[in-house]
This record gives sequence, structure tokens and C-alpha cells, in this order.
Amino acid sequence: MELTKIELTGFKSFAKKTVFRIDTPVTGIVGPNGSGKSNVAEAFRFVLGEQSVKSMRGKTGADLIFKGSKGLAQMSRAKVELTFKNDTSQENESPYASFSEITLGREIYADGANEYTINGSKVRLKDIQELLAHNNIGASHHHIISQGEADRVLHASVKDRKEMVQDALGLRVYEWRLKEADKKLTVVLANMREAEISRREIAPHVQFLKKQIEKVQKGTELRSELAGLYHTYFAQEEAHLHELESKEPKDFEDIKKHLDEVTKKIQLHRESSRTSLPEEITKNLIKNQDALRALEIRKGSAVRAVIGLETEIRILEETIQDAGNKNQEETEVFEDGVVPRKEAVLFAQEVRDIHEKIIWRFDHKEFQELPALLNLLKARVHSFESFLTSKHVQKIPTSRIDVSALTQKLQALKASLEKAAQEEKELAHSFSQALEEKARIEQEKDAYRENSLEGERALFELEKSRTELLGKLSLAEVKINQLRERKERFEAELAEGAVLIGSSIFQYKNTALTAFDQHVQDEQRKKIERLKLRIEDIGVVNVDEVTKEFESVSGRDQFLANEIRDLEESKAKLEVVMAELRTTLATTFDKGLETINAHFQKFFTTMFGGGDAKLILTEREKRSRTKDDEESVGDEEKETETGIDVTVSLPHKKVKDINMLSGGERALTSIALLFAMSQVNPPPFLILDETDAALDESNAKKYGAVLNELSEHSKLIVITHNRETMSRTHALYGVTLDIDGSSRILSVKLDEANAYAK
Ligand code: ATP
Repeated sequence: MELTKIELTGFKSFAKKTVFRIDTPVTGIVGPNGSGKSNVAEAFRFVLGEQSVKSMRGKTGADLIFKGSKGLAQMSRAKVELTFKNDTSQENESPYASFSEITLGREIYADGANEYTINGSKVRLKDIQELLAHNNIGASHHHIISQGEADRVLHASVKDRKEMVQDALGLRVYEWRLKEADKKLTVVLANMREAEISRREIAPHVQFLKKQIEKVQKGTELRSELAGLYHTYFAQEEAHLHELESKEPKDFEDIKKHLDEVTKKIQLHRESSRTSLPEEITKNLIKNQDALRALEIRKGSAVRAVIGLETEIRILEETIQDAGNKNQEETEVFEDGVVPRKEAVLFAQEVRDIHEKIIWRFDHKEFQELPALLNLLKARVHSFESFLTSKHVQKIPTSRIDVSALTQKLQALKASLEKAAQEEKELAHSFSQALEEKARIEQEKDAYRENSLEGERALFELEKSRTELLGKLSLAEVKINQLRERKERFEAELAEGAVLIGSSIFQYKNTALTAFDQHVQDEQRKKIERLKLRIEDIGVVNVDEVTKEFESVSGRDQFLANEIRDLEESKAKLEVVMAELRTTLATTFDKGLETINAHFQKFFTTMFGGGDAKLILTEREKRSRTKDDEESVGDEEKETETGIDVTVSLPHKKVKDINMLSGGERALTSIALLFAMSQVNPPPFLILDETDAALDESNAKKYGAVLNELSEHSKLIVITHNRETMSRTHALYGVTLDIDGSSRILSVKLDEANAYAK
């Protein structure tokens, strides 16, 4: 960049807009004391971003604004603009490198507020500094030597001097870059930390969602497996159900029909068998039994009557016979309780007969005769007892027996016997008839019983077939129930399947069938159940939601991972850049210092006609505690502080300490050093405000000669009262204090300047 003009408005004593055109290599500013020349040098500092008001001889920012005079009012702001011609062909990293003219501006207000502009656009101070750093104008302002500061570079501390050297070497731009890279690195590291924290924070969620997705995937796999099993299972099952259904109704209806028939038959049988022996037979039997019993009694009575009459007749006949034989013989009188022998023998004979009959009947099992015989025996015993108590065993007086009366009685008895025998005969006949009747009824009863046995046999058969049919029916019912249950289960399983795998379940209808095997089908169902359990274990996962969330969260995770990777790359690049910058800084500094020293030596010997001058890099340790642990005493880290020292050796003098030099010697040494510093990276301009003030004439000449050499690379603005110096300028500005109390300039022509100089 090449300085072309400086414009001051309201700055210090320059109330009105004042333009200094810097068209020549050396521009001089001359004028009487207090006219405002140094204010111009300060205007340079001001517009370049000087932050120290003190260094511009003020206390506050307001001191830099025109304060007013008799003729002019105080101003509210001060403005300085510095214009450069820019060589756009030169490679420059500055964002303004493409502008052919660059104007830096700074405005200050009464409240101290500042505004910076580049080509009229508001910028930050930083932007100004960046632009200057790219053009070898450092913040140390070593190229602006204010009044009384000729030996500033000798006064400066080793550290400040080093900064001046760094500025002069154009290292500011590298330092600025290093600083910028460091700032970027800090931001990169902070972003990395932030991204890593964010990533760590979402990591468990990502992990969780990943597992959920795995579950979803597993679930999908299992469902697809389940779909396969279902299709085969349902296809087989449906076909089998159709087969079972086609068989079921016919079987059942047939059995039911048959069963109804059999049941009806059984009912009929039961109804017919429920009536016992026909009433007629029963009645006849009872009647017959009653008749037999009555006849038996009557017959027994008749027998007894006959036996009694026969006995009586026999006894009477014997009595008559005996009476005939013994005539008039007394009737045998017996004593009480003595039984005539004949009577006893007869009784015994009869009892024996009956007894034999009973034994015979008993042996021949003709039991029905037994009651009659027993009754006969009873009657005979009764008759004998009657005899014993009869008159025949009473004591009768012995007298003549009336035979005719006895005969009469005998005949009467015989008649009675005949009658009784007839009655007995009739009763025996009736009895045998009753027995025949009984036999007939019994026969009838047996026949009936025979018939009912047949019926029972048929009923038994019917019951048997009913039981069989019921068995078949219940078997059929079981089958029907089983079929129904199987159908219901089929429907339920199908519905459940639809819930689990959706409408694709119905694809089973397209599945090819194989021969049905219940065992295979059962195994298939078991597999399905096991799969369902596994699917249940996975639980309900909202696939869309989880997938969406996973995509979002893993997307964020990926984004962070990419960001971290990018940041790591940036970090690595920055570290490389910083390392390179540090190397550049170090090598440039070393080389630059060498070059400065060469020029320093040259200018020094030119100024002093010999001697030695040199800048020496110093390094000293400074002790400081670590920032992290202020209280830690032992944990100290060593820090080194580097600086630049100046050593001079004047010709013919032993003095080496710069503090022991005279004012002129200090000024010459300082000028030699400043000029040397300007040789390495010549700044666009150098401001020298009465740097020559302390020089005698001979030294002023030497100073003037060096000015010409310096002006080859930088534009010089020299404020001077020295005529020798003035004679070296190509243009002169005269500054005077106007009548209104403000600084005013007038351009002095070179000839006039020369004349003024002489
Ligand atoms: P010398 O040759 O003696 O060094 P000079 O020409 O360099 O003098 P300066 O020091 O630049 O003069 O100017 C000082 C003058 O500027 C003083 O007269 C001072 O009153 C004036 N001045 C400084 N600040 C202001 C201000 N804010 N408003 C008005 N005038 C000011």
C-alpha cells in the first residue's frame, strides 16, 4: 500500500477539514511552534487505532476533538481519514486486497465513543488492525516517531523493543494469524467438547433405540417365520375341517333316527310290560285258592264226619252183635280213664294209616295233599278225644240192652253215613274239579309268563341296540363338538394371526396342501405357540415411532460424529498451521534480526563513522504459579520471557552502555536502529516528528542522507525545524495557526522550500 493522503476534520487544532496529500517520497511539515504539526503525527496514530489517549497528549477522548477558539465553536467530533493506493496485483490475504484505494477512517465523539471505517463502511478496530498487519504496520507504531521520542527505541524495555522488531519484521500478520488460529482452535475444542458431551448424552438413548430397532427387526423376522407356519397350518386345518364337516351331518342324523326308532320300540315294550299278570288270571287264581281252601275244610269235616259215623256204626254194630250174643248181659262198664282195648287199637290203626299216607305223600312230593291228611289226623285225634269224653266211657248201669233201639239207631247212623259219604264224595269231586281248575289257571299263567319272557328278551335286545346307538350318538356328538371346537379354535387362531401378522394371514388360501397328518399339524401348532411367545417377549414396540425416533437420534448422533471428525480434522489442520506459523515466526524473526543487525551496523557506522551496534536476543526466566492451583506453592512452572537488548560500541570510545550516551549519540543510535528496522519490511510510511531536533549540523547532514535512502521504500513525513532536513524533502506543508485559532496549512513549493531552507 502506498500512502496518498491524510484528512483531518475537527481533530485537535485542525477544526476545519484539512488534507495533506502525500505524493512525494519525503514530505516535510514545517511551521512555528504550537501551530499543530505534531497534531498531524498524532492524527496518524489516531487513525491507525491508537488506544492510548495519553500517547496523543490527551486525558480523555474529548481532548482529541477541536475544543473551540475565539472565532470557532467547539466541535462534537473529530475525524481522521488515511488513504492508500493499493496494488491489487500483489498477493495479499487481506479482504481489501482487491480495492485499488483503501481509506481508513476513525471518528471520535465527545463521549469517547469511536467509529472505525474502511472505505466508508463501519468496521471493528480489529478489522483495521488486521488490514494494517497485512501491510507491515504494526501496533507498536515504531514507524511513527513522535516528538521527543527519537530515542524511544532505546528507552523501551527489552520486551517492548522485541515487539517493535517483530512489527518491523512484519511478524504481526503471522502473530495475528497464530492468534486467530488459536482462537479458532479454542472454538474448535469447545465445539468438540460440546459435541462429545452431546454425543455422550444421547448415547444411552441411541443404544436403547438401537435395541428397540433390533427388537423390531427380530419381531419382523419372527412374524415372517410365523406367517410361513400360519399359512401351512391354516391351509391344512381348513382343508381338514372341510373334510370333517362333509362326514359329520350324515352319520349323526342316521344314528339319531335309528335311536328314535329304538327308543319308541322300547317305550312300547315298557308300556306293555308295565301291566302285571292279566287280572282275569289273578282273579281266577285267588278265587280258585279260596274255593280249594273252603272245599278242603268242608271235605275235612265230611271225612271226619264219615270216619266218626263209621266208627260209631262199627261200635254200634259190635255192640248189637255183643248184645245178641250175651243178651241181657250188663253193659260193660268201664272205670273212668280206662279205654277199651278195641277202641285204642282202632285209633292206633287209623293214626298209623294216616301217618303212612303222609309219609308216602311227603316222599312223593305231593305236598298239596298234606294239609288234607294233616286235617284228617287232627280230626281223628279230635274224634278219639270226643270218644273218651262220650257216654261210652261213662259208667252206665248194668241193664238189658235194647237191641232194636240200637238197630234203629244203627240204621239212622248208616243213613247219616251214607249221606255224609255222599257229601264227602261230592266234596272230593268238587275239590278235584277245583284242583283241575287250578292246574288250568297255572297253565294259563305259565303261558303268559312264557310270552312276557320273550318280550323281555326283545326289550333287552332293543336296550342293547339303544345303548350302542347312544354310544355311537355320543361318539358322534363328541366328534361334532370336537369339530365345532376345532372350527372355533380355527377362527380364534385366524383372528389372532391377523392381529399378529396382519391381513397377509389370508395368504394361507394360496398355500399348497399336503397329505393331512394330525401329528404334523400338532407339531406345527406347537411351533406357532412357541413363536408367539417369543414375539410376546419382544413386547409391543411402536415400529414407526421407534424407527422415526431412531432415525432422528442416530441422525443426530451421526451428525455429531461427523462434526467431531470434522472438528478433529480442523484441529489437526489448525495445529499444523499453528506449528508452521510458529516455525515461520521463529525463522523469520531470526533471519529478520540478522538483517536488521546488518543494517543497524551499516547505519551506525555511517552515523558515527565506525563502531559496532547490535541487537541481542535475551531470554530470562520468570517464575509464576500455575493458574489452576493458586495455593500450591511447590507446583510452579518455569516461563521464559524473551526480549531484545541493544549493545553499541562507539568508535574511539569505550562506552558501551547506551544509558551513558549523549543526547545526540542516543538520537543517532536510535535513528540508525529505526532506519535499520525499516529496511527489512519497509512500512508504507514513516513519520518522524522532530527526530532530528537533537542533532548538530554535521549529524543533521548524515541524518538527511539516510532519509533519502529510507525514502526509496517508504514514504517519509518529516516534521522539522531543521533546514538540512527540509532540504531533503520533495514537498513541504507549512502549518500555521489561523486567526480564528485553528491550524491551517499551506503548501510550500519545493523551490520556496529550498529557499526557505537556505
Ligand atoms: P512545536 O513546533 O512547538 O512542536 P507544533 O507545531 O508541533 O509545535 P502542536 O504541539 O502540534 O504544535 O500543537 C499544539 C497546539 O495545538 C496547541 O496550540 C494546542 O492548543 C493546540 N491544540 C491541542 N489540542 C487542541 C484541541 N483539542 N483543540 C484546539 N486546539 C488544540
